[in-house]
Amino acid sequence: MMTIDGLFAAGDAVSGPATVIEAIGGGKRAAEAIDRYLNNIPQPRMPKIPIRYNMEAPMEMSASRKMTLKRPEMPMLNVDRRRTMFQQAELGYDEKSVRREAARCLRCDICRRCAKCVEICRDKMGIDALQFGYMDFDNPSETDFRATSEKCITCGACAANCENKAIVIEEADDIRTLKLCGTILNKQEIQYCEECSAMLPSIEYMQFLSQKTSDVTKVIENRLLCNNCQRKLSAKINIETRPVNQS
Ligand code: SF4
Ligand code: SF4
Repeated sequence: MMTIDGLFAAGDAVSGPATVIEAIGGGKRAAEAIDRYLNNIPQPRMPKIPIRYNMEAPMEMSASRKMTLKRPEMPMLNVDRRRTMFQQAELGYDEKSVRREAARCLRCDICRRCAKCVEICRDKMGIDALQFGYMDFDNPSETDFRATSEKCITCGACAANCENKAIVIEEADDIRTLKLCGTILNKQEIQYCEECSAMLPSIEYMQFLSQKTSDVTKVIENRLLCNNCQRKLSAKINIETRPVNQS
């Protein structure tokens, strides 16, 4: 980052979209730095970015559950007691309610709302599978985590470009899963080459690619093959069916 003598910055201008708490912290650090600057006190050496010591793993859940979770009702002191004493009216959640409320968290400590994933899926891939209205004010849309599974082809472009690893593609037990901070947005079956067993993209992704280019994995003789095996098989078919030169 470029340094300009006498210029101080804090908040989103430094960190990109982040939380109010981080902006307040940045403002305090900037105020201290200005004070030192005005009093000709050397600035301390600061880490370039805040150090995160630990992070709570996101809770895994389906998109439908995430969309339908409601804020638990706060237990309240009964009205008669509230009239006669100054006891705290909100009694607090029990553990079960706390856990339910925690499950609604959108994890803004992991996903920094840069909207790069939305833009890549919509503008670069032309798929527009990510419907996160709260991230993209220029293209207002209603947030719906469930809608992704209808269009997403698990190409992984969004995950590959998320610097915070908030949106990820995981491959396990023959299933490729797209997750945003633990919320499962899409699941697709992993395909394998029928010749060498190499892992292939999803059927939907292969169909998408075949519309864009011809040099892709496709079914030859009703067999699903990777590009290598496809090339080898094409060469073999070519040799076997080529007419022999008559001399
Ligand atoms: S998931 Fe990643 S790319 Fe998408 S908005 Fe969050 S931080 Fe940005
Ligand atoms: S993995 Fe799905 S959501 Fe991500 S860019 Fe590809 S199609 Fe869009």
